[in-house]
Amino acid sequence: MAKESEIFTVPARRGRAARLDKGQAIKVINTHGQQVVDFWAFRADDLGEFLSMEHLRATLEGIFPHAGCDLVTNQRRPILHFAEDTSPGIHDTLMAACDDYRYGLLGCTSYHDNCTDNLYAAMAELDLTPPECPSPLNLWMNIPVGPDGRTSWGEPVSKAGDYVVLRAVCDCVVAMSACPQDILPINGALRTPTEAHFQILT
Ligand SMILES: [Zn+2]
Repeated sequence: MAKESEIFTVPARRGRAARLDKGQAIKVINTHGQQVVDFWAFRADDLGEFLSMEHLRATLEGIFPHAGCDLVTNQRRPILHFAEDTSPGIHDTLMAACDDYRYGLLGCTSYHDNCTDNLYAAMAELDLTPPECPSPLNLWMNIPVGPDGRTSWGEPVSKAGDYVVLRAVCDCVVAMSACPQDILPINGALRTPTEAHFQILT
């Protein structure tokens, strides 16, 4: 049985980052069930190599990563192994992280918390600066794709306490953002972002 660390909080609308040694895993917990968690991973020895959704989709030949698959970088190498998923497996690999521009397009006239800024702030707490904001793995984000290729903004199909376990293939830095989206229903019908939690497993 894996040894679990203390439980860390990703506060609602905020981000957190953590270091993972090769072989350690992170358990990301959808505590309240309806919260999308944007997730990034960077190689510890080269932040320019990171988990990449466009490379992942090519490797998967699909858009839904699932337990048992490897998550790959922009150099097409595994960075994390997707070990467990208690949810129905609906995660998003298509949509960019939200940013202040996005909220401007949605009608906000003043600054809105966003996942892009949360990534930079979370990495800064570790004295790190990512080279860019890669497209995240949007855990539990439900983006239905119709037969005509059109996408829509669904509500999560996960339930409270669902979690994923991602095991590090190499030393890496991971970051998460409890997405502050409160205009579209991607964080549930109440459009109220909530906290999430994570643990490091050894
Ligand atoms: Zn977001």
